[in-house]
Amino acid sequence: MPPVSQVTDIRTLQEFDEEAATLRSALDEVERRLRGSEELEQARAAFGSLDAELNDIRRTQRALDGDISVLNSRIQPEEKRLYDGSVRNPKELGNIQHELELLKVQRSKLEDQLLEVMSRLETVEASHSSARQQLARAEQEREIELAELEREATRLGDALTRVEARREAQKLKISAQALRVYDSIRRRHGAMAVAHIQGGMCAGCRVAIPEAIRRRAFQPDQLAQCPNCERILFVG
Ligand SMILES: [Zn+2]
Repeated sequence: MPPVSQVTDIRTLQEFDEEAATLRSALDEVERRLRGSEELEQARAAFGSLDAELNDIRRTQRALDGDISVLNSRIQPEEKRLYDGSVRNPKELGNIQHELELLKVQRSKLEDQLLEVMSRLETVEASHSSARQQLARAEQEREIELAELEREATRLGDALTRVEARREAQKLKISAQALRVYDSIRRRHGAMAVAHIQGGMCAGCRVAIPEAIRRRAFQPDQLAQCPNCERILFVG
C-alpha cells in the first residue's frame, strides 16, 4: 500500500471539521429552542391580553351596576312620594314627576351601556376560555418538547466530543506547516479548504492549474495550492 499522502490526511481532517461544524450548528439550534418557545410565548401573550381585557370589562360592568343602583335608590323614594298621597301640591307633584323622568332617562342610558358591556363580556369570556385551553395545550407540548430537546442536546454533545477527539488525533498526522496553510484557507474560504483538480481546473475557483502545480499535486509528500484561491489541491 502506498503511504497515505499529506493531502489525504488533510481531507480526512476536513471531513471531521465539517462533521463538527454540522453538529455544532445543530446543537446551537437545539439550545436556541431550549431557551424558549415562540408558540408558548404567543399563547401566553394572547391569554394575558384577553385576561386584561376581561378584567377591564368586568370593572366597567361593576361600575355601571353601581351607578344604576344609585339611580334606583333615588328613583324609588320619589316614586313612593308621587303615589302614596303624601304630596298633594300639584306643582310639587309636577316637579317630582319631572325629576323622575330625568332620572329614568339617565338610568335607561346606563342600562343600554350595560347591555353592550354584557354582550362584549360574553364574547371575550369565550375567547378567554379558548385561549386558556390553548395555553394549557402549549405548556403540555412544551414539556414534551423540552424532554426531547434535552435528549437531543445530549446526543449531539456526545457526538461532537467524539468527532473533536478524532479531529485532534487526525491533526497529529499532519505537519505543522500544512496545518497552518489549512487553517488559514478555512478561515478565508469557510468550508472548503481542499479542492479537486477537475479538467485541469481548481474545483474551488474554476481557474486553470499550471502543469507544474498539477505535477506537484501527484506527490504524496508535497502540498500543491491553487495559485488563485490558494486552496490545497488534490487529484484522483
Ligand atoms: Zn482555486
